[in-house]
Amino acid sequence: MTKSFASAADLADKQQTLEVLADGVYALTAEGDPNVGAIEGEDFLVCIEAMATPVAARDWLDRLHTRTDKPVRYLVLSHYHAVRVLGASAYGAEVIIAHDNTRTLIAERGMADWASELGRMPRLFRDPASIPGLTWPTATFSDRLTIQLGGQRGDLVLAYLGRGHTEGDIVAWLPDQGILFAGDLVESQAALYTGDAYHSDWAGRTLDAIAGLGAQAVVGGRGAVARGQDAVAAAVGQTRDFLRTMLAEVGAVHAAGGTLRDAFHAAHAALAPRYGRWPIFEHCMPFNVSRLWDELSGIERPVIWTAERDRQVWDQLQE
Ligand SMILES: [Zn+2]
Repeated sequence: MTKSFASAADLADKQQTLEVLADGVYALTAEGDPNVGAIEGEDFLVCIEAMATPVAARDWLDRLHTRTDKPVRYLVLSHYHAVRVLGASAYGAEVIIAHDNTRTLIAERGMADWASELGRMPRLFRDPASIPGLTWPTATFSDRLTIQLGGQRGDLVLAYLGRGHTEGDIVAWLPDQGILFAGDLVESQAALYTGDAYHSDWAGRTLDAIAGLGAQAVVGGRGAVARGQDAVAAAVGQTRDFLRTMLAEVGAVHAAGGTLRDAFHAAHAALAPRYGRWPIFEHCMPFNVSRLWDELSGIERPVIWTAERDRQVWDQLQE
């Protein structure tokens, strides 16, 4: 049987759940669809991630505004992927913050990524005509940026912990509350997309740095909120195990002079028993193995994905 392309046939809406993680700290999860968050400052809001379109974002903002009517001062983008950034215009944020490398990636490949993600995940792009264009950060940083939330609310620390899911991922960390918004650097009971990743760095020092924060709760890129040390360790551990299994399986085929197709089947077989039923697993695997193959071949930066290249790799591996 032919598998339908990526998530093109995934058209059933997911149930969204608003979770209150601490006073003024919110996460909206959606059964494996991309998560978003918000943090109250004394007289402003920080929103984390923008969703795929302004129309999709407006529903989330309406829901958030049942809790607080503070205006959005900061919109934080964890990385450049279209489903996380193209709804930005709905927020009316004073400042849109991302990593320096994210700005570079948007300039270099934002348009191609938009077409790629629209083709792979059409359901997330509600009313795609409402997107006014690429989202450009208005403030970027290289290592760390601290937002003082005011009153007794403490600080929100935005930090770059190394290359991982992309070369420009940042996390949003509330040290006083022990809450981490990890973007796609950590997934909780959802598969990883690694088509733009740096597998070795991510599985090693980047996840080490995340684990070293000692979070009590983690909002990952997709999936349930991990609450408590055990659940946090499980989410980080799952992410690392997924990457290490790919590195071992694809690495062995690559070293033995096998083919990309062999590598795909080996990695798929090794991961499927543990992760095969989790959201977007089948969608991601061809792109993941293709990028890792390049990384092992010494191609430093991920080759730009276009809608056409997505189809070619899919047809080569998944059908
Ligand atoms: Zn992503």
